Order: sequence, then C-alpha cells, then structure tokens
Amino acid sequence: MSKSAHTKTTANHRPTPAPPRAVTPVRNAKGALKIGVIGCAGRMGQMLIRAASANERCLVVGGVERTGASMIGRDVGALAGIEPLGVPVGDNAGDLFDAADAVLEFTSPTATLHHAELAAKRRKVHIIGTTGLDASQITTLQRHAKQTAIVMAPNMSLGVNLLLRLVTQVARSLDTDWDIEIVEMHHRAKVDAPSGTALALGKAAAEGRGVSLERVSARGRDGMTGARRRGDIGFAALRGGDVVGEHTVVFAADGERVEITHKATSREIFARGAIRAALWAQDKPPGFYSMADVLGLSA
Ligand code: NAD
Repeated sequence: MSKSAHTKTTANHRPTPAPPRAVTPVRNAKGALKIGVIGCAGRMGQMLIRAASANERCLVVGGVERTGASMIGRDVGALAGIEPLGVPVGDNAGDLFDAADAVLEFTSPTATLHHAELAAKRRKVHIIGTTGLDASQITTLQRHAKQTAIVMAPNMSLGVNLLLRLVTQVARSLDTDWDIEIVEMHHRAKVDAPSGTALALGKAAAEGRGVSLERVSARGRDGMTGARRRGDIGFAALRGGDVVGEHTVVFAADGERVEITHKATSREIFARGAIRAALWAQDKPPGFYSMADVLGLSA
C-alpha cells in the first residue's frame, strides 16, 4: 500500500495516517514463528522488536500501539532503531492476532485483559510481561487460558526466575527468627509499586514458610508503624534514574544477615525471555504458564 493510501483528513483538517491493516514483512523466513508485539513503541516493545528480528527462528509480522498514537504508520523496525522491517505500526490488535502465531505484550493491565480475550478467541499464544494486575484480573486471564496458551511472568529473566526458586528454599530453611524484607529499585517512569517481581519474590518466600503472602505482607510503612510483626514479609520500593530493575531479598536475624540480589542492567534479558517463552509455548496445549514452566524450573 502506498504512503498516501494511509493518509486521511480528520474533522480539524489535520492529516493523520490511517492505521494500516495488511501486514507484509520484508524478510521471508520460512517456518519461523510469526511474532506480533503490542505496545511496540514502549521501552520493552522496542526491545522486543529488536530481539525478535535478531532471532532466526522468529519473524516480526506486526506491531500495534494505542489508537491515535503518533507513531502509527511508521515502520516498526525503524521505530525500534534497527533496519526497516517493512511492517508499519498499526492500531488493530485483532488483525495482529490474526497475522501472528504468538503475540508479546508489555503494556498496561486493562489493555492486557482486552488483548487476552482476543488471543483466546483466536487461540493464539499470548506472552504477557505486563505487571500491576490485581487478583481478579489474573483470574480473568486464567479463564482465557482455558482456550489458549498464555505465559505470564512479572519478570522474564533467567536470573530472577532462579532467584525465585532460591528464595523459596532459603525461606523454607529459616524460621521466623529471620525477618524477610524485599527491597527493589526501578527507573523513575515505573508506575506500579512494589514491582511485580518484588511481589513474586514475596510470594516465593511465603510459600517457603508455608504461609499466604496476603496475611503477612507489610507494605508502605510510614509514620508510627509500631514494631515489626514477627513473620511479616516487608516491601520497600525505590524509584529513580534509569535503573532497569534491582531486587534484594534480605533475611535478617540477630547477629547475621543473608542477602540475595539480582541486578538487571539491560531490558534485553526480559525480551529474550519473552521470545524463549513464545517459542516454547507454540506447541503447548491451552494453559496458564509461568517462566518456571518455560525454563523447566517447575517443581
Ligand atoms: P512503556 O510505557 O515504555 O510502554 C508501554 C507501551 O504500551 C506504550 O508504548 C503504550 O503506548 C503501549 N500501550 C498501552 N496501552 C496500549 C494498547 N491498548 N494498545 C497498544 N499499545 C498500548 O512501559 P515499559 O517500561 O515498556 O513497561 C511495560 C510493562 O512491562 C510494565 O507493566 C512493566 O512493569 C512491565 N515489565 C515487565 C518485565 C518482565 O520481565 N515481565 C520487564 C520490564 C517491564
């Protein structure tokens, strides 16, 4: 389709690019997994485009953004800072699910829920990295996962998923003489706190102790909080600069302290994890999977 064919005039006479519907990738990779990215202009979205296009087993067939976003119509590759891929940014997620075998999404909770419904209807793999979903939103995703394979993880890196296992083991070995605190730091633009990863680490520690996190979680301490409750799992969130993501789980007893830390220095680790999850999920039956399943770390 020519560039002019994408142009329409709005009521205030400002020409805006019409969202392209057809998807015609330049690269022809027979047998490759067809990948779509929702939120392709975001920090993670751009990284996903770069990682998928660098992977020989994947073919980027499309990327979508919010309706009205200024980058609609631009080439997804050029937008991500790599060579043009011959695929314009669209705003029709339904079309993207039709064109792709697997769709990767790191956006917002509301957008993710809507898109999971599209994935379920079309029985397409949906890889979800979005964080900040509440319990009822996760239940809705699990319902959609009865129709298709969904992989969801608040952190797609190998290191953090190993850390989750480690934290459960350590928490299982130590009694409540050891206070557990989880400290995380992220870049200044992050909108949810504590991070999804911090909450997952809290859940892993609670599992090790055989308690439910909801019962022992201590969040947002401020003012006269009183002394720490024995058995609590505490959270602290720091925000600043361009920090990609740092998590420390502290086990503190009288006279000694164990700290386990993971530091992410590049978003590439999350993107690589998401692509690994898509390749893994392509032949899996419907289900709600985690990165532990993908990495073979499930008990
Ligand atoms: P970002 O704000 O840079 O990007 C989000 C993008 O999604 C934006 O471009 C936005 O326009 C787009 N978007 C929002 N709603 C949309 C919709 N309805 N349709 C299409 N596009 C839509 O944010 P980010 O830093 O890339 O993070 C995104 C999410 O991923 C956050 O929840 C973050 O916590 C999470 N995250 C997860 C991992 C992981 O490993 N699971 C790693 C990093 C970030």
